Amino acid sequence: MSKQKLSKEKSLQRTKMYAQLIACVAVLGAGAYMVKNAFDDSKTVSQSPYYEDTELPEITTEQATTEPDPNKLLFESSNIATKDKYKGDLILVNNDHQYFGGDEDLVSIMEMNDKTGRDFFTAVDYTYTIQGCVYEPLAQMVEDFYNKYFNDTLIIYGSFRSTEFQQQLYDDDLANTGEGESTRVAKPGFSEHETGYAFDFSETENYDYDGTGDFAWINENCFKYGFIVRYTEEKEGITQIQDEPWHFRYVGIPHAYYITKNGICLEEYIDLLRSYVYEGEHLEITDDSGKSYEVYFVPSDDGSDTTMVPVPVGKEYTISGNNVDGFIVTVYKDGIPELMKYEPGSAGSSSGDSENSGEDDSDVSDDSSTDDTADSGEDSAEY
Ligand SMILES: [Zn+2]
Repeated sequence: MSKQKLSKEKSLQRTKMYAQLIACVAVLGAGAYMVKNAFDDSKTVSQSPYYEDTELPEITTEQATTEPDPNKLLFESSNIATKDKYKGDLILVNNDHQYFGGDEDLVSIMEMNDKTGRDFFTAVDYTYTIQGCVYEPLAQMVEDFYNKYFNDTLIIYGSFRSTEFQQQLYDDDLANTGEGESTRVAKPGFSEHETGYAFDFSETENYDYDGTGDFAWINENCFKYGFIVRYTEEKEGITQIQDEPWHFRYVGIPHAYYITKNGICLEEYIDLLRSYVYEGEHLEITDDSGKSYEVYFVPSDDGSDTTMVPVPVGKEYTISGNNVDGFIVTVYKDGIPELMKYEPGSAGSSSGDSENSGEDDSDVSDDSSTDDTADSGEDSAEY
């Protein structure tokens, strides 16, 4: 009985409590509503007419993370001959890293000029050769220069040199100076000229090209054509070669962009690329025309004849050795630039660089037989 009474009292109390609670909530709610209105009022005063739009980005970013990224590349494995790490347009050749090539795909600059009807620059003679893939970017650069300044005095004064010829230059310099070691001429096997990817400009008026006057345009714009000014005063401590404003090295458009825009030398760039391994973050490069590239490094499997190099599926790419410890893969996400399109071997000899394009890759490398028949005479004793 008492229990029932108690519970009746309790339920009464409860009802009372609920009533109080409801009243409380009502008061609080009214207060909150008033406060909210006050805020809303102040908002309507200060808010921009595009208030609705300012909330949009939050929604779009959420959507972007859930949708698959169309720019994400798919990769497959490709078997590359490990010794091909000594080939390609990104090889580093300097006092510490010898060049082991010998199957360059060389073209005569003057022959190519004759073939393509270019008469606004020349070479010392018909024996001056460079890698086939270098000719068109070089000629296009000089053509653009000519159309700007109507200056046709440029001459290729140094280009490919066989190791024998480099030896001759080296010995001549020793004989001239009477010293035991040359500080002006690279040791045979250690000159970038032996790769066929480098050339020296001169001019036919004073034979003194220093990259100033009209020629400043060349030194400032060469990266757009895939060239770098290889030896600058600022980097002498790293390259171990004095300032040479006349010496240009072909590395291809994306790499020339990155090297030039970031003010680094090839030694520093090759070093930097080692941190962009395939498994990690890749180096993203965009050129002025908006074309984008992805670059990554794959260490060579030096214990094996072949190295597994991951390559993108359905995208154009090139593989170059770095001449030290691996391969650099360049993915042309928007296609290979027109200027870089070149069919290796179209000059007659075998492929000089391990460039591939397209989907399936079966890079059958040929023996690196030393073929030094094409000799380019040069009388200047520089690198
Ligand atoms: Zn040179």
